[in-house]
Parts: sequence; C-alpha cells; structure tokens
Amino acid sequence: MHELSIAQSIVETVEARANEYQATKVKSVHLRIGEANCIVTDSLTFCFEMLTSLEPLLSGAQLLIDTVPHRAKCDRCDSEFPVQNFIAQCPTCDEWSHHIVSGTELQILEMEIDTGICVAT
Ligand SMILES: [Zn+2]
Repeated sequence: MHELSIAQSIVETVEARANEYQATKVKSVHLRIGEANCIVTDSLTFCFEMLTSLEPLLSGAQLLIDTVPHRAKCDRCDSEFPVQNFIAQCPTCDEWSHHIVSGTELQILEMEIDTGICVAT
C-alpha cells in the first residue's frame, strides 16, 4: 500500500510549507497525479484523511486530485497516444516509444491556508 507513504510525504511537505507561512489551518491541498504512478486516489484520500485527522493544523483539510493521463509520443510518425498498461506502442505505426509526454507527475499544485491565500509550491 504505497498510498500511505505517499500521503505521509504529502502531509509532511504541506505541514512544513504551512509552518513557513505561519498558517493556523490548512483548508485544502491540490495535487496533480499522473496515471503512471498507479496511485489509487480513493486510498490516497483515505490515508490523507487518516493522517491529517491527527494534526490540528491539517485536520479537515480537503484533498483535491487532478489525474493526468499517461501518454506517449511516437518518434517515427509524431502522433501522440495513450499508454495502456505501461505499453507505449504507437497505434498508428506500431513503433515502440520511449518518449513519455505526461502521466508521471506527482506534484502538490497549491494549498489553501487559513488566510485564504493560495500558495504555489
Ligand atoms: Zn507512430
């Protein structure tokens, strides 16, 4: 269950940033997660809520998740196509691609703290 360790590092990062900005409350955390990370967003949300419920600074914080599709680009015919089950083979010309264009991201986009200011991370 790698969602727990991911949730843990998100909570630690958010906490550090919130302290930096002297926040008294974190209202929401906005993530961007690529499909290639194989993260079950429901599990991640569950772990996040479990961990944040123990921290007064973060308790009740909402987790927003944008999922980014896993896509590759063909080096031969230049077409872009979805990667399915980690198989990046061009549907147009059958060429195997090593050129992943999206889907590997795992980022905290922004977080909202009690002042209502969005802090870009
Ligand atoms: Zn192709």
